[in-house]
Amino acid sequence: MRSIGLFTSLCLGASLISLAACQPAPEATQTQTAPSPAPSVQEVLTPTPVNVSQERPKAMVAAANPLAVEAGLKALRDGGDVVDAAIAIQAVLGLVEPQSSGIGGGAFMLRYDAKAQTITVYDGRETAPSAVDETLFLSESDQPLDFLTAWTSGRAVGVPGVIAMLAIAHDDHGKLDWASDFSSAISLANHGFPVAKRLHDVSEQVMAYSPLDERPATASYFYDDQGRPWPIGHVLTNTAYAQTLSLIAADWRNFYEGPIALGIVEATRAEPLPGAITMEDLASYTPVKREALCVPYRSYQVCGAPPPASGGVAVGQIMGMLNHFDMQALGPTRDGWHVFIDANRLAYADRDQYVGDPDFVDVPIEGLLDSDYLASRAALITMDQALVRALPGEPPRAETMGIDASNDAPGTSHFVIRDNDGNVLSMTTTVESPFGSQRMTHGFLLNNQLTDFARAPRDEEGRLMANAPAAGKRPRSSMSPTIVLDQDNNFVLATGSPGGNSIIGYTVKSLVAMLDWGMTPGEAAAMPNVVARGEITRMEEGFDPDIQQDLRAQGHRIEGGRGEVSGIHIIRALPDGGSEGAADPRRDGQARHP
Ligand code: GLU
Repeated sequence: MRSIGLFTSLCLGASLISLAACQPAPEATQTQTAPSPAPSVQEVLTPTPVNVSQERPKAMVAAANPLAVEAGLKALRDGGDVVDAAIAIQAVLGLVEPQSSGIGGGAFMLRYDAKAQTITVYDGRETAPSAVDETLFLSESDQPLDFLTAWTSGRAVGVPGVIAMLAIAHDDHGKLDWASDFSSAISLANHGFPVAKRLHDVSEQVMAYSPLDERPATASYFYDDQGRPWPIGHVLTNTAYAQTLSLIAADWRNFYEGPIALGIVEATRAEPLPGAITMEDLASYTPVKREALCVPYRSYQVCGAPPPASGGVAVGQIMGMLNHFDMQALGPTRDGWHVFIDANRLAYADRDQYVGDPDFVDVPIEGLLDSDYLASRAALITMDQALVRALPGEPPRAETMGIDASNDAPGTSHFVIRDNDGNVLSMTTTVESPFGSQRMTHGFLLNNQLTDFARAPRDEEGRLMANAPAAGKRPRSSMSPTIVLDQDNNFVLATGSPGGNSIIGYTVKSLVAMLDWGMTPGEAAAMPNVVARGEITRMEEGFDPDIQQDLRAQGHRIEGGRGEVSGIHIIRALPDGGSEGAADPRRDGQARHP
């Protein structure tokens, strides 16, 4: 059995979160021109990380791949709502960025309605099959499975939620036919698309620690007949995916019943460590509409997704603590970063203790965001000394459960959309680890989202974790799709990122950079990332070495290295009503107007 030790040594001690960054990017070996209607290979290979047009209209899309951006823009040009654009983008991402997200995964989505000035959260998180209990990831000797074993096992596959979530959102807001929202993706899947840099890079990296050889169907799609990843620009088709999308376009329930559902059951129940998904589990999947969690921050309201996403609570807690400091005056200096780091550390400690699926555990959401509680947490931050270790606090109305410090791996995408009516959508979508469970059926990959549960369900004192596996339960997520409003509920900006549990730190960085430090969306996305969780602060390459030195002198335990791979996508309202946006230069994406 492959072990996590092998993996960590391959990555020279980098954490699982940074696995996509732990090896140098390979050279492209071959390029081809994609046939119409795909954009040119050149466009895919040299994306514009920050792309703001002169006219700056309201409508805009920022996403991780130019073909997905184009599909979203087409939906907007055709008169679609932001939800129509989201469906078009997700369908294309599942084709061109399948290592990150797809119809076999789950998502959280926030939609701001410009007329009503309200935000609705759509929860399409995967659920555990009905046969699951807290022993899901325990071996026969009751030891938690190592991550690599759990990752590609059938046990890791949750009931996918994206399609059902998009379907209820389309019922609420869609302006185009459901079927037409899939047309760009179906056409690309049939005609071919050029392999982007990141798909190539991750295909190569994954070979080093979890080769696809146990899954020949997956390997034969992603690798050539010599077992090498397709080169950047190679034109790939996926007619099985086109057929699947055509069935979903005819009726979204075709994903949860009939041949596609059967394919999901069979792929999940295959060795090794078969999972337990049944046709009934698929047929009964239910997406949930939830209320957004909004916390005041200076003159703004920062809104996110509630549990089972931990992002809304954690981002809200951090901003609530930062509210007790003048971050604008502190700026991106040693003192500004010191406060940022300690506030992050305190919020991660609470998240690890208290957040799970609210249908199963009593998550003290109000207590965690209570202003007196946050004031007491902020008071733990002193200007002269690093906190180093943060313990969870005791928010009002909280029941104490086991502490769960499990990691999430990088395999996610974030996109933002604004339409001409001013509606805004912020969605983070994931198959969990790169290529999800690596199990493929009907042209798409199945998630390994259940590894987001605590693999060891109880702590040393035998207390059950808030995030322990259970039948029908949604695993805790770090996803943090965020929308910021002003005090009159007008749209200010939308942001979010992939990146495992570092998502929370990346999202907060982008917020502080724009709301306090006067940066543009492009500068905010590009700024080196800082993630403070447990006792370590991870700083991305490019961070000011003098500030790093000063922070060390203050007691911060800092680790550098190549750092994390964020994928921050941002749209911000301009005073004249238009939009500006940015795509994270670490990925292949773009921010563009129609
Ligand atoms: N599965 C993780 C979550 O839902 C996200 C993983 C990632 O961003 O790469 O929080």
